[in-house]
Amino acid sequence: MAERRSGKPLPRVDEESKGYWEACRRHELRIQKCLSCGTLRHQPRAVCTNCLSSDVEWLLCSGRGEVYTFTVTYQNQTPGFRESLPYVLAYVTLEEGVQMLTNVVDCPPDQVRIGLPVEVAFEDVTDEIAIPRFRPRGGSGGGGGGGGGA
Ligand SMILES: [Zn+2]
Repeated sequence: MAERRSGKPLPRVDEESKGYWEACRRHELRIQKCLSCGTLRHQPRAVCTNCLSSDVEWLLCSGRGEVYTFTVTYQNQTPGFRESLPYVLAYVTLEEGVQMLTNVVDCPPDQVRIGLPVEVAFEDVTDEIAIPRFRPRGGSGGGGGGGGGA
């Protein structure tokens, strides 16, 4: 079994989510598109939430989106999470229109705001699992920082 690097629980990969996690492992963000009605969906499901069709393709996303809403967590004593405090939990609306529950990283929590343009940044937590998180998109002017990383 692959060793965890972060100490956080790993996602459970099942038949419904396997395609998603395999794409993440390749650092591709993919969501499901129903081949019957065209509805896009995330999280992965066996059938379409609109028409119940099981015909699906995995649409490659741009990886860009914006913060829809967020919260900053300052207290969490769960091992693996307390080391990351404070951290930002956010819903990001992808350019494709679906929302993902995720973290905003590489950004001081007090600089996260609703509407912040973000892009996906994969974290390889094991040899099998890469977690998609989001960081601010480099807009105009840079804004310093960016060096090092933890
Ligand atoms: Zn459908």
